[in-house]
Amino acid sequence: MPLRHGRPYLAIPGPSVMPDRVLQAMHQPAPNIYTGALVDLVESVVPDLKTVARTKGSVAIYIANGHGAWEAAIANTCGRGDRILALVTGRFGFGWATMAQRLGVEVEILDFGKRAPVDPDQVEARLRADTGGAIKAVMVVHIDTSTSVRNDVPAVRAAMDAAGHGALLMVDCIASLACDRFEMDDWGVDVMVAGSQKGLMTPPGLGFVFFNEKAEAVRAGLDPVSMYWDWTPRGHPQEFYQYFGGTAPTHHLFALREALTMLVHEEGVEAALARHAVLARTIWAAVEAWGQGGPMEMNIADPACRAHAVTAIGLGAPNGTALRDWLSEVAGVTLGISLDMAPPGDPAVHGYFRIGHMGHVNAHMVLGLLGTIEAGLVALGVPHGKGALEAAAAVIARG
Ligand SMILES: *Cc1c(COP(=O)(O)O)cnc(C)c1O
Repeated sequence: MPLRHGRPYLAIPGPSVMPDRVLQAMHQPAPNIYTGALVDLVESVVPDLKTVARTKGSVAIYIANGHGAWEAAIANTCGRGDRILALVTGRFGFGWATMAQRLGVEVEILDFGKRAPVDPDQVEARLRADTGGAIKAVMVVHIDTSTSVRNDVPAVRAAMDAAGHGALLMVDCIASLACDRFEMDDWGVDVMVAGSQKGLMTPPGLGFVFFNEKAEAVRAGLDPVSMYWDWTPRGHPQEFYQYFGGTAPTHHLFALREALTMLVHEEGVEAALARHAVLARTIWAAVEAWGQGGPMEMNIADPACRAHAVTAIGLGAPNGTALRDWLSEVAGVTLGISLDMAPPGDPAVHGYFRIGHMGHVNAHMVLGLLGTIEAGLVALGVPHGKGALEAAAAVIARG
């Protein structure tokens, strides 16, 4: 019987659950966009964004989703015919690389498949072979949301340094920012892209590109960059409108201000990272127990390479889709679909699902979600091991 009437849980990997306070912060008339409170608000948001990204560099804010931030990062670093090395571990790495290709960049892809992280040794070997320094940038996705793999960004940096290669290191943190540890400056990342609707708990529609001085020097050497995507005025505005290339995204900014207050000034970034780590381990403990007595399987076997923001799970077709349907129809929980884990049209696509556990998520939400998945497995007659909820509760109890 349907038991879904009540507060729904959208457990997909973005947009994530938004705090009521963030939603309420948007419920006000449009402010003056020339002077006054909005100007102060933006000037307070910029340092908080840099605190989350762990950088003293600059940030450009775009009225765009993650795809817009991707394009902005490429437009400011690569000219037509420049060469980049894309390290691909799933759909999002491939998507960013494709976007660069469409902008006329020569893209070389190192594909590590859908169940493993980037192998830094292969990166080092490829860069050593580039004796002429043709490769201008290395791009990598921190967490590929389609596979839930987490790439070791410091290891990629170390591989670049070991090869003595001067390319820019560009990282997509759209899924990971504020969920998985990321230290832009300490890790030697030159360009980082993020979006508002995942760990930052804000509606989709703001894209961020963080950049350091090395990346700015590359930008300065490019042919003219599209006026809208140019990060220079946005990162170093002389006039308020230059932050946004026009009218400020007023209500997104109200939302972002509230979310950053909660994240940076109330909970604290370190505590938020620790919360995501425990909640992720809670989910893994349940999945591993279910897998002992049935087809359920973590897509990423090695816990050290798993994201703390999203978990991709195999259950065999058609059980993945059947479970998602059962949870949404009966229980008010929406799980994430499989993304590119099987070729388009292949029924194997119904064998996967993903759990989004990024942003405004806590212990009772995750335990409720896991209890609901267990009910779905029982209802659908999918074989599964016992003790998953006890294992999950034990992780929460240990903290
Ligand atoms: C969600 C996501 C994107 C795409 O962001 P959009 O806002 O949908 O354009 C890119 N990369 C990663 C890692 C993501 O999780």
